[in-house]
Amino acid sequence: MIDTSAFQGKKAAYYTLGCKLNFSETSTFGKTLADMGVITAAKGEQADICLINTCSVTEVADHKCRQAIHRMVRQNPGAFVVVTGCYAQLEGETVSQIPGVDLVLGSNEKANLIQYLSDAWSQPREGHLHQHHTVKTKDIKTFQPSCSRGNRTRYFLKVQDGCNYFCTYCTIPFARGQSRNPTIASLVEQAQQAAAEGGKEIVLTGVNIGDFGRTTNEQFIDLVKALDQVEGIERFRISSLEPDLMSDELIDYCAHSRAFMPHFHVPLQSGSDEVLKLMHRRYDTQLFAHKIHLIKEKMPHAFIGVDVMVGCRGELPECFEACYEFLKGLPVTQLHVFPYSERPGTAALRIPYVVDDKEKKRRAHQLLVLSDEKTQAFYAEQIGQEADVLFEKAARGKAMHGFTENYVRVELPASQAREEYDNQIIRVKLGDFNHDKTALKAEIIG
Ligand code: SF4
Repeated sequence: MIDTSAFQGKKAAYYTLGCKLNFSETSTFGKTLADMGVITAAKGEQADICLINTCSVTEVADHKCRQAIHRMVRQNPGAFVVVTGCYAQLEGETVSQIPGVDLVLGSNEKANLIQYLSDAWSQPREGHLHQHHTVKTKDIKTFQPSCSRGNRTRYFLKVQDGCNYFCTYCTIPFARGQSRNPTIASLVEQAQQAAAEGGKEIVLTGVNIGDFGRTTNEQFIDLVKALDQVEGIERFRISSLEPDLMSDELIDYCAHSRAFMPHFHVPLQSGSDEVLKLMHRRYDTQLFAHKIHLIKEKMPHAFIGVDVMVGCRGELPECFEACYEFLKGLPVTQLHVFPYSERPGTAALRIPYVVDDKEKKRRAHQLLVLSDEKTQAFYAEQIGQEADVLFEKAARGKAMHGFTENYVRVELPASQAREEYDNQIIRVKLGDFNHDKTALKAEIIG
């Protein structure tokens, strides 16, 4: 039994670390609590409930989580403090011992936040509860649906959770559990709801999205085809797809689809076949290059973002060189570069060759310079072209920004900006770079 009166009028503060999936889940927690009568605390206002959604992708992330928890406890004396997310799942016991923390919910339990809160509040409380509820990774089964409005014009629709891949450097399968997904029908319904609220763009999120269908015996391509029919949603983007799960059929479908954008994000991690083997990635550079070339053949104007990890164990200098050369030769648009971080319990720790921090930084820098060159060249190719831009809200008297179908950031000068352009798709002519080279200047056509 849930005592709804215990929630009424309470104020909640939220703090999220990590990926888009975490942000979309926090927003769902916010919605769920709001349905129970909880109000979101204004900036600087003291909260009765603090919810911190954590990440554990690197050691630095763990540290930031602890800092955020301490800060929330300090700024909200007496508040009921809940910690969830990947760090909470992996280090539940440790987190529950942090002074001020009341409740730690692991990846399986977070879907039942309201029940846990209600149970905890029905207990006599002197000081903090320090409870922690997490199950073993293999028992993580729940799927918390989530379709949330981002802070701009986009919705984030969670289509999948968990991962069965066990890449040697990664802790996500331990933190989020086995790959699982809801049905296509339920996701179409959530997309229709977003359209009814005026949403125009949806980003599909998940941990290993291409693995969609495992629990429902469906296929990712069928999800894409079904979503493509949702009226009112003008744009879909796929936040990330493992190259081995990006079928040629999917690339072909996106090239002709109504609303799937010519914008891809593909994790490469290393451009050296030796390192890919050490990482237990399920493809080689040949397969990766095939996917990139196919995308460009079908959609020459496509934006392609690529994740790369540098300095992982076993990345000899010649492996990094091979990676650099491989990327240099590929028609990709932007590199997301991550320095490798040692994670306790991962198989990568058994690889003897270690890259020191200074060298990791040097490699990261070299790839970032390459990334900048590629992105600038891609933007330069768009100058003089016409494009449809989905504009985002801007403060009165300020320039407006938005993105083209192929993810070029565009700036409309304040003199041309209009309130009614917010969340509208408008045809523009693309001009030169803006002052800090983060966007192309645009002029409205017609
Ligand atoms: S595919 Fe590999 S890197 Fe990605 S979440 Fe799964 S195990 Fe981690």
